[in-house]
Amino acid sequence: MPALTRAEAQTRARLLDVRSYSIDVDLTRGGEVFGCATRVRFGCAEPGGSTFIEIKPEALRRAVLNGRELDPAALAENRLPLDDLAADNELVVEAEMRYSHTGEGMHRFTDPVDGETYLYSACALDEAQRVFAAFDQPDLKAVFEVAVTAPEDWTVLSNGVGEQVRPGRWEFTATPPISTYLAAVVAGPYHAVRSEHDGIPLGLYCRRSLARHLEDDAEEILRITRRCFDRYHEIFDERYPFGSYDQAFVPEFNWGAMENPGCVTFRDEFVFRSAVTDTQREERAIVIAHEMAHMWFGDLVTMRWWDDLWLNESFAEYMGQQIISEATRFEQTWTAFGVRRKSWGYDADQRANTHPVAPERVDDTAEALLNFDGISYAKGASAVRQLVAWLGRDAFLAGINEHFSRHRYGNATLADFLDALASASGRDVHGWAESWLRTTGVDTLRPEAESADVRRPHRIRAGLYDRDGDGGLALREVVPLDVEQGHKGTLIAPEPRPDLLLLNDGDLTYAKVRFDEGSWHAVTESLGTVEAPLSRAVLWTAARDMVRDAELPASAFIELVVRHLPNEPVVAIVETVLEFSRHQVADRYLPPERRADALAELTGVCRRILRRTEDGSDEGLRLTAVRGMIACAQGPRAVAELADWLEADSVPGGPLLDPALRWKVLLRLCVLGEAGEDRVAAELERDPSATGHEGAARCRAALPDRDAKAAAWRALFREDELSNYLLTATAEGFWQPEQRELLAAWVPLYFDEALAATERRGQAVGRVLGRFGFPEHAVEPDLLRAGEAHLKDNEVPPSLRRRLEDQLDDLRRALRARHAAV
Ligand SMILES: [Zn+2]
Repeated sequence: MPALTRAEAQTRARLLDVRSYSIDVDLTRGGEVFGCATRVRFGCAEPGGSTFIEIKPEALRRAVLNGRELDPAALAENRLPLDDLAADNELVVEAEMRYSHTGEGMHRFTDPVDGETYLYSACALDEAQRVFAAFDQPDLKAVFEVAVTAPEDWTVLSNGVGEQVRPGRWEFTATPPISTYLAAVVAGPYHAVRSEHDGIPLGLYCRRSLARHLEDDAEEILRITRRCFDRYHEIFDERYPFGSYDQAFVPEFNWGAMENPGCVTFRDEFVFRSAVTDTQREERAIVIAHEMAHMWFGDLVTMRWWDDLWLNESFAEYMGQQIISEATRFEQTWTAFGVRRKSWGYDADQRANTHPVAPERVDDTAEALLNFDGISYAKGASAVRQLVAWLGRDAFLAGINEHFSRHRYGNATLADFLDALASASGRDVHGWAESWLRTTGVDTLRPEAESADVRRPHRIRAGLYDRDGDGGLALREVVPLDVEQGHKGTLIAPEPRPDLLLLNDGDLTYAKVRFDEGSWHAVTESLGTVEAPLSRAVLWTAARDMVRDAELPASAFIELVVRHLPNEPVVAIVETVLEFSRHQVADRYLPPERRADALAELTGVCRRILRRTEDGSDEGLRLTAVRGMIACAQGPRAVAELADWLEADSVPGGPLLDPALRWKVLLRLCVLGEAGEDRVAAELERDPSATGHEGAARCRAALPDRDAKAAAWRALFREDELSNYLLTATAEGFWQPEQRELLAAWVPLYFDEALAATERRGQAVGRVLGRFGFPEHAVEPDLLRAGEAHLKDNEVPPSLRRRLEDQLDDLRRALRARHAAV
């Protein structure tokens, strides 16, 4: 399928003025295909001219342009040529379309609990053409009128406001002009919770088997939605433009959520069926606020082409964090952002594949898809946060409102955005953008810089800390500081010298920070005594990238964890540091013979947290510690302990073991060879839900037995049956550091088979196999050489190639870190 190029999109945008789509969808044609009739009305600036419309049908039945029958056989891959256009055109396309199981186009899912079927469309980036005939590019916005025929007991949602006009027939009001990638249909016997706020009808939807869990959390989700609406309505001049606001939690969704106007889809893991930490609730709240920000930024004003994808995402990501911290009880969102989310950006930005936040040009949709990464989201949001620090909040919001009023219901570019900010603030925003958005890489801020490698200006704060009588670090003063582009030499030399000089205290900018010798010593002694959570987040992140850069031995990082994590009160910090310690430091950076000791140390940390929370003082910390103990369990004592927990269905002193924890425990026992197929089957009987099936697939793939591995391998790479979620679960179970010897036979097969499966099954499968299917535990030069040769010798589809190149970068880094481990 040829990806649409930027040049083709520009040509078509000059030629066409798309006015409306009337889409009639028939969901009553069985389990393989659905019917879709599309009627498009569009103007053409050059009558007599030609263009094409995209569609990926199972069977194209009929196409009629201005009353003239077109030959369906003229469809070339996904493009139907349209010739001899008039000034005003009407095109009718009737087709049968195939349901998808990879979350692209119209996804179809059958719930194993009750056999009910659920559908939803996923049109981004250029998958609208798997649902209807579309001029599939963001700047050909049009009015959408949707009608759907569905089984009578189903609920159907779309962007417009829906009405069931007779049993099984749904019609939706016409939308304002929106882009094709934002069109949505959600259909099935969904459970609904309805409400209203400030004149906006609100709806929450999920599968029936999750109804109880949605009901438990509906008030929280609605409260966050209402508060965010109020806050957005305070800061934006434009009111919410899309009528009703439905939030549908849908199965096997590939992304976190998708901002379809008036009909947002979320992965239904956000309907919590097991105990979660407050950090997870905070994450859900941020995603809710993020998608709401898109209603303005992305949907009301849309990027002209995918080169400005980052602008949508960085803005929504920034707003999600900021609005939640202002309008809800989650006031510390920037701490979790600083300790976890930002690392996604830092890591991506230090790989060979990094790109500017705002690339000069993105040549086609396939390349655009690769940019849904840590740069576009986390680095971009950090840049926006820095922009707000630099411009001031009022000037920033004035610029945003100017931007909305100039481009409402239309499209805009980065240049348009900067113009609006510049005119509202009177500042040189274009110059700022040049150094922040057109460059790559992470600056490193040092109190004393030998070379001028600071690529961009930074407005930061420096924290000066002195030791108090108990050896703790107390904040003396926060010093505002403007670091100039190209800075060299002494950045700050306060008198008297503080025991800890922390650059970027408060995390306003995006940069690595380093310490003078005395300050680092103070960090190792007293990190945990620094009072502000956001300051500790900056310190932990600095330690993290020092170990990744092989500047700090992996063993020293573990020592820091042992010393300071047991008393850390912020769940987001404990979760993130534990996870990094286990999956990167212990599994990859330390040599295999030192891994068992590291796991024992981490188990000790978790036990101390458990003891500290025995009084029930912090359930989130306790849950985090229990998860950590499960992940690090090894040896007879821990195995017996896990078996006891399963038996008792609880951890002594809490928490109770819910399905998620039971599957985690069982997975660990399977990895260690202490549980087998009989236990997995019994657990699946107990929890026959979709997540139960994922848990079972993960466990089965993890069994240390040649036949189980062979079966998992076939399912992953050869049989092409698994949905995207079961594929992910199977891949997650397959590679285990404990099973190094057993797995050695499969490592050499990986590259060729991942390529073949991606070629057969497409981009989404490539992303999963490149990410979760990669043998991460094998930190070996041989794997690196094999990967390099593979990428050199083969034509690898972009989604898989990008993942593999990133994996090889991380592998090089792990090899360096291992060299410096002790
Ligand atoms: Zn987004």
